[in-house]
Amino acid sequence: MANTPYPESYYAASANAAPARPALQDDVETDVCVIGAGYTGLSSALFLLENGFKVTVLEAAKVGFGASGRNGGQIVNSYSRDIDVIERSVGPKQAQLLGQMAFEGGRIIRERVAKYNIQCDLKDGGVFAAITDKQMGHLESQKRLWERFGHTQLELLDQRRIREVVACDQYVGGMLDMSGGHIHPLNLALGEAAAVESLGGTIYEQSPAVRIERSANPVVHTPQGKVRAKFIIVAGNAYIGNLVPELAAKSMPCGTQVITTEPLGDELAKRLLPQDYCVEDCNYLLDYYRLSADKRLIFGGGVVYGARDPANIEAIIRPKMLKAFPQLKDVKIDYAWTGNFLLTLSRLPQVGRLGDNIYYSQGCSGHGVTYTHLAGKVLAEALRGQAERFDAFADLPHYPFPGGQLLRTPFAALGAWYYGLRDKLGV
Ligand SMILES: Cc1cc2nc3c(=O)[nH]c(=O)nc-3n(C[C@H](O)[C@H](O)[C@H](O)COP(=O)(O)OP(=O)(O)OC[C@H]3O[C@@H](n4cnc5c(N)ncnc54)[C@H](O)[C@@H]3O)c2cc1C
Repeated sequence: MANTPYPESYYAASANAAPARPALQDDVETDVCVIGAGYTGLSSALFLLENGFKVTVLEAAKVGFGASGRNGGQIVNSYSRDIDVIERSVGPKQAQLLGQMAFEGGRIIRERVAKYNIQCDLKDGGVFAAITDKQMGHLESQKRLWERFGHTQLELLDQRRIREVVACDQYVGGMLDMSGGHIHPLNLALGEAAAVESLGGTIYEQSPAVRIERSANPVVHTPQGKVRAKFIIVAGNAYIGNLVPELAAKSMPCGTQVITTEPLGDELAKRLLPQDYCVEDCNYLLDYYRLSADKRLIFGGGVVYGARDPANIEAIIRPKMLKAFPQLKDVKIDYAWTGNFLLTLSRLPQVGRLGDNIYYSQGCSGHGVTYTHLAGKVLAEALRGQAERFDAFADLPHYPFPGGQLLRTPFAALGAWYYGLRDKLGV
């Protein structure tokens, strides 16, 4: 049987020790079968176990193999599309519920880290950096919007203040969110998996779900075993393939790439990011970066629509890094990798039920570290019969990408090119 290892990355190289987990080779029964051991699956499993459910997690490769173990590590609150867009699309009542939840994921991560003593280098403080006056104006209205939903810990940074936070000349200002922050993403996933097992949950690795038999007691088949469950949670996100065909048309896997420098040393690291906050800029195709615990710069950016792996990641991302930080021109890149996230046309998460007993959450379109933790809680609430918050997500409308399976990638790339051009022209 195939044994899929972690892709080479800084995170895999600095991962905490984790047990080898077996592949499923049996027929088992459980209350909830979770497909995918990323944050969505693990967060769901944890909330369910804490509420007395028996949970079995099937992971095609290894815990945190997908985006959850490869991302920029930025705890970014809210959704990939903001609440005013949601309000215009679905009205004030649903927007109120979603708006109130917009900062909950970050709190859940911190609770998890504290409760289960997860060693994942958690740091507080995230900055949205504006490159143009227009972007700064957008941040000002975003602050007012978020405050309307009770999120009041935000601080606008003028040009002088943002220089104190990040040694980059590109920015005219920004916004600091102290409830944002950063983590070692793979170690967060590994810590959550250990917490799942500490509560009696079972995780099988190298155990892809290859077929779901839909019925009153659905069965998930893997190459060598099967799980009969009362409920199934589909949490395979951009790596799910065509397991659930009805979800595939309304979402599209996309790649994004990350590089990691050699250790910069305390002095240079402190000059770049004196308070050790993470930063993302406000462009449509955004750059995001932060320091690791051992003072490397972890820098991400770029999107490949359709999720093909680029041949030379360093050649794509290093110029972006040097544009922000020309002072790093002689610094070596130690790691470069790619990972897939799942895009929806609205850039809002794709959430819902198939029949009575198959639930799914996927497609948070870029910003997913906080949302996926919230999703786990909301999915668990729904399985316990309290579906109001779940339904607020499930009722968000979703549409197929124009062009169908064949043409959606060039169409989306064209759209991104247009927005990228607007970023470049500052309009
Ligand atoms: C390079 C990169 C950088 C990013 N940076 C950030 C960031 O800084 N901040 C932020 O908020 N978001 C970021 N994101 C997005 C964020 O990482 C994701 O939204 C989030 O991790 C998705 O979690 P998930 O559990 O839904 O999916 P994943 O983490 O992708 O997990 C899905 C899991 O399901 C498994 N799986 C798939 N199919 C099957 C199957 N059939 N059977 C069993 N298992 C299956 C996969 O192997 C995988 O482990 C980034 C994404 C990428 C790719």
